[in-house]
Amino acid sequence: MKSDFLDTPESGFAIEVLRAGSRLASQVRAESNLTVHCKEDNSPVTVADMGIQAVAGKFIEKYFPAVALVAEENTAGLRKPDENARLEEIVRHVKRLIPEADPAAVCTWIDRGGGEAGELFWTLDPIDGTKGYLRGDQYVTALALIRKGRVEFSALGCPELLLACHEKLGKGVMLLSSRGKGCWASSLEADTPWEKLSVSRCEDIKKARILDSCDPGHKNAEKNAMIKRLLGSHHDPIGMDSQAKHATLAAGGAEIFFRTLPEHDLSCREKIWDVAPGAFAIEEAGGRVTDLNGNPIDYAAGNILKNNPGFVATNGFLHEKVVAAIRETVFPK
Ligand code: AMP
Ligand code: MG
Repeated sequence: MKSDFLDTPESGFAIEVLRAGSRLASQVRAESNLTVHCKEDNSPVTVADMGIQAVAGKFIEKYFPAVALVAEENTAGLRKPDENARLEEIVRHVKRLIPEADPAAVCTWIDRGGGEAGELFWTLDPIDGTKGYLRGDQYVTALALIRKGRVEFSALGCPELLLACHEKLGKGVMLLSSRGKGCWASSLEADTPWEKLSVSRCEDIKKARILDSCDPGHKNAEKNAMIKRLLGSHHDPIGMDSQAKHATLAAGGAEIFFRTLPEHDLSCREKIWDVAPGAFAIEEAGGRVTDLNGNPIDYAAGNILKNNPGFVATNGFLHEKVVAAIRETVFPK
């Protein structure tokens, strides 16, 4: 079975970016010492994050020259003279995939990602879960196309993921989702047949499997444990970096993922590229997505989802129960 949206420019662009991104990330892992650079917000960035964004910035010119790209990285730090070696390293890796790459072109391609989140735009996280990538665990290249605040299409490239319920695809999968057409998975590298994903049909909260971020700074671990106790789930939470969690939920490998606000920063809000691609995959696979209050995600708010505290995704059947437990724990009267 194959869905017709797999032959569109959206899919063509996404598949080219995800495959090149996965190759670049494994090249960097194999050949460079994975030097981590700290961004202004203290989050880590590697040569691979920058290289993948450059590749996407180049390919979007071929498929969607008139559409903005709103992406996580920029060259502000990279253009300083003492960062020359880092830029050269990025160029060296991008050149293997795009032979005409040079320092000026690579900077231009990366900064193509500085577009405005307006009426129509693509959003990109070149490496979501950079810490997972550094550890050799899960990371994802994530893309979504958003028109008038509604996601129309999304793509997740998950080079390290053996997709639950679809293990035959092998390790390394991509998920493409299109509005009303479902969420589909195939191998990232091989041309395996596309498989349609469906969320789990589990309605028993005790049997529900809960996904959790690995990074203690990305959640309130104490509140998460309280919510789990209140729900009465018998399983230990499944720790996983990045939107590989969203892919796992969409495929039926778990029923629940929620992100509470870290105690040290209750005003913390998610970035659009960390949410839209994976959330849309879950919805197209039959699941439900809201913020911690049970409200829909407002994708017309700009790069930062300022109108939505936290995040909740479920297989749908369990959503009301999870939001009720969160209300009781996070926002007690
Ligand atoms: P993780 O689920 O831990 O892999 O985090 C994935 C992404 O979400 C990273 O890009 C983080 O920067 C971002 N993130 C994590 N925690 C939060 C939070 N509480 N609020 C907003 N963004 C977050
Ligand atoms: Mg990210």
